[in-house]
Amino acid sequence: AKADGRGVHRFYRPEMLADAQGRKRLEDDLRIALQHDQMHVCYQPVVSAETARIVGFEALVRWEHPKRGPVSPADFIPIAEECGLIEAIGERVLRAATRDAAGWPEDVRVAVNVSPIQFANPALPVLVANALASAGLAPSRLELEITESVFLTDSAQSDRMFAALKGLGVRLALDDFGTGYSSLGYLRSAPFDKIKVDQSFVRGAAMPGGRNAAIIQAIVTLATALGMETTAEGVEIQDEIELVRRLGCSHIQGYVYGRPMLGAQAAEALAANQGR
Ligand code: C2E
Ligand code: CA
Ligand code: CA
Ligand code: CA
Repeated sequence: AKADGRGVHRFYRPEMLADAQGRKRLEDDLRIALQHDQMHVCYQPVVSAETARIVGFEALVRWEHPKRGPVSPADFIPIAEECGLIEAIGERVLRAATRDAAGWPEDVRVAVNVSPIQFANPALPVLVANALASAGLAPSRLELEITESVFLTDSAQSDRMFAALKGLGVRLALDDFGTGYSSLGYLRSAPFDKIKVDQSFVRGAAMPGGRNAAIIQAIVTLATALGMETTAEGVEIQDEIELVRRLGCSHIQGYVYGRPMLGAQAAEALAANQGR
């Protein structure tokens, strides 16, 4: 196992996952992980660009393999999507995140990633409603993060899903904006509250000569004109904070403000946040 830049051991290296045997082993391990509760949820702070106070957290799933240690979601989520286990994983993350968020101050939100596979399942709104009800969390405190890839599926069906989710009163964020098969057409009708500017645009944006700052600027202008908020993702250094604030991003997320942390640490960060 080799650690990548984020300190996560990537036991399931891409070349292993390229062959059927490697994938099958990960799939088997994933089933066991679900049975034995080897997954938990971490929370990464999202701050207001204006005040630098924590206004929410993004829930990120973590898998601690008993022998292999932490496995990156970048490795196991795609496999979980292929073998159907993403539905069970996604439901657990949703339940844990809404339960934890119910213990936070009322103006703090939680964001949960929704896989395109979950988005295509007509049962999703009921699942979300049940999670909110059993956690006792106000729908407006939950933000669902959806990637552009949902627009590849049937558009009448995705319109119905958007309407059903908005009908619950939850917020919707467009994740990883600009990295997928982007077409601006869907911004016309899809009811997003927020666009998340992908970290590939933020990385290096504060260095002179690059084009990333112009791209971020264009995304923010577009989002603002459409009445949407913007989160700059993957902000790692002070120069990037200053840049994305200057470009008008409303929210900032990244290691510079905090790495994904356990629920108990998130509660502590919030307690410190109140005094700011
Ligand atoms: P994402 O939704 O774009 O999540 C942000 C990723 O960027 C997280 O990686 C986070 O730890 C990382 N990150 C945050 N700030 C920084 C930074 O300043 N620098 C750098 N280099 N990275 C930063 P993570 O937790 O490894 O998750 C990777 C991806 O796995 C997520 O990307 C998301 O697509 C997927 N994922 C994670 N949890 C879930 C989940 O519960 N459900 C689903 N469907 N997907 C998930
Ligand atoms: Ca996300
Ligand atoms: Ca993202
Ligand atoms: Ca991403």
